[in-house]
Amino acid sequence: MSAYQLLQLASQLLFVFVAVAVTLQMIHRPLKASLDTALLFAVVAFLVAIGWLHEINGVKAGRWENAVTGSLLMAIPYMLVRLVDDFTTTRRAILGAAAVGLAASIVSLFVFPPPYPGAVVLVLVAYFMGFTTYVAVAFVKASRGASGVTRRRMNAVAAGSLFLGVAILLAGISAATPGAAKVESIIISLFTLLSGIFFFLGFAPPVWLRRAWQEPEVRGFLARAASLPRMPDLGEIMQELERGTASSLGAANAAIGLWDAEAGLLRYNASHFLRESGADQMIGGRAFISQKPVFSDNTERDDPAHADLYRQSGARAVMAAPITSDGKRLGILAVYAAHAPVFADDDLLLLSLLANQAAVILESRILIDEAARVKAMEETTRLKDDFLSAAAHDLKTPLTTIVAQAQLLERRARRNPEEPANLDGIESLVSESQRLKRLVLELLDVARVEQGRLVNYRENLDLIELAREVCERHSTDLHRTVLDAPGRLVGSYDGARIVQLIDNLLENAAKYSPAGGEIRVRIRQDGASARLTVTDAGIGIPAADLTHLFDRFHRGSNVDDRRFSGMGLGLFICRGIVEQHGGSIWATSAGVGQGSAFHVVLPAAELISLVVEQAG
Ligand code: ADP
Repeated sequence: MSAYQLLQLASQLLFVFVAVAVTLQMIHRPLKASLDTALLFAVVAFLVAIGWLHEINGVKAGRWENAVTGSLLMAIPYMLVRLVDDFTTTRRAILGAAAVGLAASIVSLFVFPPPYPGAVVLVLVAYFMGFTTYVAVAFVKASRGASGVTRRRMNAVAAGSLFLGVAILLAGISAATPGAAKVESIIISLFTLLSGIFFFLGFAPPVWLRRAWQEPEVRGFLARAASLPRMPDLGEIMQELERGTASSLGAANAAIGLWDAEAGLLRYNASHFLRESGADQMIGGRAFISQKPVFSDNTERDDPAHADLYRQSGARAVMAAPITSDGKRLGILAVYAAHAPVFADDDLLLLSLLANQAAVILESRILIDEAARVKAMEETTRLKDDFLSAAAHDLKTPLTTIVAQAQLLERRARRNPEEPANLDGIESLVSESQRLKRLVLELLDVARVEQGRLVNYRENLDLIELAREVCERHSTDLHRTVLDAPGRLVGSYDGARIVQLIDNLLENAAKYSPAGGEIRVRIRQDGASARLTVTDAGIGIPAADLTHLFDRFHRGSNVDDRRFSGMGLGLFICRGIVEQHGGSIWATSAGVGQGSAFHVVLPAAELISLVVEQAG
């Protein structure tokens, strides 16, 4: 047997083998696409069988037989165009043109006796070439919008179509030039063989090849999977899982429906064509209820109640698998395709695998969220405990004094009603009650800071005027308070809160300067801001405490409760006041024993003209 004969036999056997394989596939899943594929290969196999018959009997085909086999050959481009329509979408006009071309070819084959006139051969070849080229281009174009295995399949079909076109072109040339060389026939057989191989791979890839073609995307997906649970939010994790699943299966879209047990609904990401669906609704719901993967190659037929929805969202074929971890039903993973032949039965296995992976990822995410929630709850409980013990401790001291003092006054009054009132005792009673009141107000303010309700009514006020009044009240022999500020500085302030802020800073400055010393309040306008600085010459602040002073309950490591009473809430409230005015506050200190400075920046009206530098 010559090399040429061997090649020819190989390509013929291949076509027959593929014809049997695709026919079996068609019987198993009678889709329009599998029917079209089976028809295409059946025609080729039939032509091969006729050739073999002639060879065995040693007879040449007659005129009418030639016309029939020629017509069948000419049907191939038309069938390929139908396959384009199965896998992507073709314009009706193209399908019509192919049908007209086929009818014209058949007529001319029956009208003209062989050998066919050169012009007829030319037209037939042109028809064949034209449509096989169209098919190749259409599949290449469609493959651009596809991913993974579908993209590779479409490229294979495009290559098969091109090879077939070239084979027919060469056959046409050799028919038109009698006495063609053997080499030409070898090349034709080679191209036919290649086209057979590529059509087979594209239209009916064997399972092992589908797996190999899916592998790069699946691998990429699994490689990213480990880092997914730590992504910032659940929505992003779902999107990433959907992207990975769609590309692994070569589908256009994928969607995860998460089970909301309370509402009894599967909930989807915003990009999905449906925000939610009942557990028993849609194909995805069936997978959820049955806890088994489901494949529908015709959603409109299998779920007619939602036919419109599927049609509008281009979901002709759907595969769905349950996402379940240790018996806990988390939801479903579904993939959608606009054309049924994109999926094969064994893809269900891969989808289940990916759904299991998704279950692990979502479960880890749920555990991470749960751990964070427990931690946050513990933190809240700890803060509450801190708060209660700090508050109870600080309220207890003045309260004990008040009760003891009041009891003393009562006993005295009973024993000797005529004795004049003990003024010192009453004074101490009043001052301790006021201290208690201050503490309670401070506690109430803390709650308001947290609710963002500290600052209420704001009006245009002169900050310097407010500061002057506070400074005058605080100036004592031990702590002389000096205000260094130009004439006026107007801003929109809650006056009571700004007074409370400066009061607090000046109280602290005096409290933490037990040896006395000057306290300076400096106010300046800086563009659209007012800067207020309170400087003292007191005990200073350790560097490590500077950034924490404004936290709730934080007290410097250089202060102790016996020497300096306090709850560590004043500066927390100060920060609340400043921030709710849209400003900022911070502290500086050269170190322990070196005095401290508290800096406040508040927004101010940008009316520099209101600022009149004080002489001197
Ligand atoms: P309290 O004075 O009740 O402790 P604050 O919130 O007003 O609460 O202050 C928090 C801490 O900041 C104080 O405990 C003290 O350590 C430090 N601090 C505040 N003002 C001064 C200051 N003028 N000089 C030194 N340390 C200060």
